[in-house]
Parts: sequence; C-alpha cells; structure tokens
Amino acid sequence: DNLKKYFPVRAGVFKRVVAHVQAVDDITFKVYEGETIGLVGESGCGKSTTGMTILRLLNPTAGRIIVDGLDTTPLFLPRSRANKYIKEWYVDRFNKLLHEKKTEDEVIKSLDDELDRKYAKIYFDKGAHGLRHEMLSDLGDKRKWFRRNMQIIFQDPYSSLNPRMRIKNIIAEGLHTHGLVSSNAEATEIVKDLLEKVGLSSEYLYRFPHEFSGGQRQRIGIARALALNPKLIVADEAVSALDVSIQSQVINLLEDLQKEFKLTYVFIAHDLAVVKHISDRIAVMYLGKIVELADKKELFDNPMHPYTVSLMSAIPIPDPEYKKKRIILKGDVPSPINPPSGCRFHPRCPIAKDICAKKEPPLVTLENGHQVACHFAGQFKG
Ligand code: SF4
Ligand code: MG
Repeated sequence: DNLKKYFPVRAGVFKRVVAHVQAVDDITFKVYEGETIGLVGESGCGKSTTGMTILRLLNPTAGRIIVDGLDTTPLFLPRSRANKYIKEWYVDRFNKLLHEKKTEDEVIKSLDDELDRKYAKIYFDKGAHGLRHEMLSDLGDKRKWFRRNMQIIFQDPYSSLNPRMRIKNIIAEGLHTHGLVSSNAEATEIVKDLLEKVGLSSEYLYRFPHEFSGGQRQRIGIARALALNPKLIVADEAVSALDVSIQSQVINLLEDLQKEFKLTYVFIAHDLAVVKHISDRIAVMYLGKIVELADKKELFDNPMHPYTVSLMSAIPIPDPEYKKKRIILKGDVPSPINPPSGCRFHPRCPIAKDICAKKEPPLVTLENGHQVACHFAGQFKG
C-alpha cells in the first residue's frame, strides 16, 4: 500500500544528501494467493526495487506491506522507526479522521480496510501506546517466518550462487538455518528430491556452480528458493539472461512447480513478451509508478496507457502477413532523481497535451478492474 522507496544521493566533502532517487513512488497493488503477477517496464522503472522492498531486502521509505492479513512493515525496522511508522500510518491518520468525522464509530465505519478497522478499534480503546504494544507483539518474532516464506530468484544465477560451495550445501543452507532438518542425511535426501523436481540429476549433489550451464544454474537457484517451501517467490528477471529456448523451459518449470507447491509469483521482467505467458495479471511500471494494471488478457486485448501500447508494439509477432508498426518512443527514460512534472511519461508520450505536464493522472480503476493512470486513457492505439 502506497509503497515508496527513495535512495539518498550524497555529494560533497560532508556527503550531504543533495537529492533522492525516487525509485518507487507510491505504488499500491495486491498479490493474490496462487497467482502470478508480472511487473514490467524498462530498466530503472523500479521493478527490482519493488521486489526487494516487498521481500524486505530493503526497508520501505513509506507505505506498508501486508502479508496474510498482518501488517509486516515494522518487522525489520529499528524500534524507533517502527514506532514512527505506527504513529504516522495509523495514529495520525485516525486522529485526522476523528477530527473530520467527530465520533470514533464513524471513523471505524469510514475505513474500508479490515486491518485499519481492527487497529482503529484498538487505538480508540487503548491509545497509541496500546496500539503499538498490540501490533509489535502480534508480530512477535515473525522475522524467520517472513524470511522463510518470501523467497527470491535472481537474474544472474551465477553471481547469486557461491562459487566455492557445492550444490548440496547451496540448496541445504536454508534448511539448516531455519532448523527444518535434524541431520545432514535428512538434508541430503531433501536436496536430492529438489534437484529432481527442478529437472536436474541428483548425481549433481557434490558439484560446483561453474560446472553448470546458465539454464541449469537457474534451476539450482529455483531449487534453493523452493527448499524452504515458501508462499511467495519474487523472480527478478529470472529468465532474462537465458537463451529463448531455455527461457521457455524454465518458465514451464516455474509453472509446473507453482501448481505442485501452490506458489505465488511476482514475476519481474523488462520484456512484455516474457511475462505474457506466465502471468495472470500484469502491472506496467514507468519511472517508479504503476501506470497500468489488468488481467493479462484484458491488458493485451485492450491496452489503455500509451506506454503499454508502445511496449506491446515491440513484441515480435510470428505471422509474416501481419506487419505491425513498432512505436519508437522519443528520448530516453528521464532521471528518477528529478522526474518530469505531471504525468511522468509526458516528455515521451505521443499524445501528450498541456494538462499532462501540469497534473499527475491518478491510477483509476475501471468497472472490470482494469487500472490505468492517464488523462486520455484508451485514446492512443499506436
Ligand atoms: Fe500521455 Fe498525458 Fe496520458 Fe501521460 S497523461 S500518458 S502524457 S496522454
Ligand atoms: Mg532490475
């Protein structure tokens, strides 16, 4: 919800913060259990930062991350920042609402998020201190639970696999850290099983990463992520470095494993053609914002944002009779340090009008659930 991740830019002798890279700037989306949501956009649009932030490999600058109905935002924050977060996100907001609505019941009724209503009740009952206490003890020691259930597969399987470790130890590491096995022999059995699940021979157990091809290394990365039986896997450009034929093998494997283990994927790629096959829904990002989000079929049948239309025009179509015009956008992606005013896409948009530079288009949800952020949504067909 309203997720932001800014990175400070430091300069000068005193390394003062002179600006911020607005890598992710106020995005909200849901990931449903068992689905694959694709995140696409050019490099630098904030997709990897989004993935790393929801996995808490980075802490968010603002916003919240709810997992299984639990606000996990304070989980990895230092105590003072956790307290500040609870105050700003809940206490200040409830107080402001109370000022507008006059009664506590009216405030609670006005909230459409279940979690908000729960915390509002606690706040009105027990005060800020009580709310803080309740939230933090709810989280208890959920760090391990979170780490175990939220896994990542990286783009470059070579650099993410320790070259000095044998495959067995790479995959079994998490099993030991999380106390999921009581003996080495037990771990070996599990790893053998996992290797077979990802289509590798269990004889590879004691080999090193450099003995494998790119596609095989990616399978090892997948086995490592699977070892902890996670709920969610963020695949960050997981197939982008592979040859096209190997790409589809790995994507098919991910789909089979999803069915078998009831996995949920956030599938990140810069190429719409890659996310097309695997995704149930697709979110298109541009300069730290979600500009369009819809079911895959709806998005491909009816793209409404000019940026999505231009991304789609770049997908090769196997029919030689059909000559599609590729839309080449003018200019480069602007810097996320000082993004353009109004609609961030306006300097490159083929149909930009005056209002586009002045007013930021909100992400609106249409009747069929299709979300789009454009003043002239649906008007550019390419
Ligand atoms: Fe283009 Fe304006 Fe729509 Fe932005 S709001 S995508 S500049 S038409
Ligand atoms: Mg990236």
